[in-house]
Amino acid sequence: MLPDLHLHTSRCGHATGDMEEYIAVARYRGLKSIGFADHVPMYWLPPGERDPALAMAEEELPRYIESVRRLQRANTGLTIYLGIEADYIPGCEDQLRTLLCRYPFDYVLGSVHYLGGWGFDNPDLVQEYTRRDVDELYRQYFQMVQQAARAGLFDVIAHPDLIKKFGYRARMDLRELYEETARACAEGDVCIEVNTAGLRVPAGEIYPSLDFLKLCRRYQVPVTVGSDAHQPHLVAYGWDRARDWLLAAGYRELVVFRERRREVIPL
Ligand code: ZN
Ligand code: FE
Ligand code: FE
Ligand code: ZN
Repeated sequence: MLPDLHLHTSRCGHATGDMEEYIAVARYRGLKSIGFADHVPMYWLPPGERDPALAMAEEELPRYIESVRRLQRANTGLTIYLGIEADYIPGCEDQLRTLLCRYPFDYVLGSVHYLGGWGFDNPDLVQEYTRRDVDELYRQYFQMVQQAARAGLFDVIAHPDLIKKFGYRARMDLRELYEETARACAEGDVCIEVNTAGLRVPAGEIYPSLDFLKLCRRYQVPVTVGSDAHQPHLVAYGWDRARDWLLAAGYRELVVFRERRREVIPL
């Protein structure tokens, strides 16, 4: 069973279930390793403007880590990694770097969820797509992902074509953007994530698209896998399809992390 490195918990304010429940499902499904990657506190905003329904408060972070440590000790036979999902906000790199180096994360998933302040993956803000030029949006999005890949902050780029989430598809040929982005990941020495949450939203397709994933493979960008579960029953969601997707792109191995160092495991 592939390791699921992208699990959220009720701590983030928009997921349900505590860590024990995610672990129970992981065990039931026969996983040998998982990683929690809850949303990082909204470091780019002053504390008073942070939305408790989007991420945990900063005071919660030590408790998050302590919970993972306790569960690691209590769960022999299941490897539990300590991850975090961190938003990439251009201009706030130093704040994020300072925050991340204070804690002993095994890995950091880097995510682009905002374009110029618009949370484009937020279902409440989906109307904004109709006011935008979708091709232009894809250009902006992939440019931001490339910047994130080169920022030296992240181990993995999460859901690398999240911009397709609500089914707004570019009219232009995306090949060049995909290739530039795959190259940025290789040059920035980051992995990309095969994320099955795309199957559960209007996009109806794993992140990233197979064409993009093939280019990542060509540029020798390593991969991780994640369900992005926000409910316990979604642990390892779509795992057979994730494996097929990886094999179709030519991958034969994936990576996990310990103290931010990669470990390669066969697919
Ligand atoms: Zn979330
Ligand atoms: Fe995300
Ligand atoms: Fe997530
Ligand atoms: Zn995510």
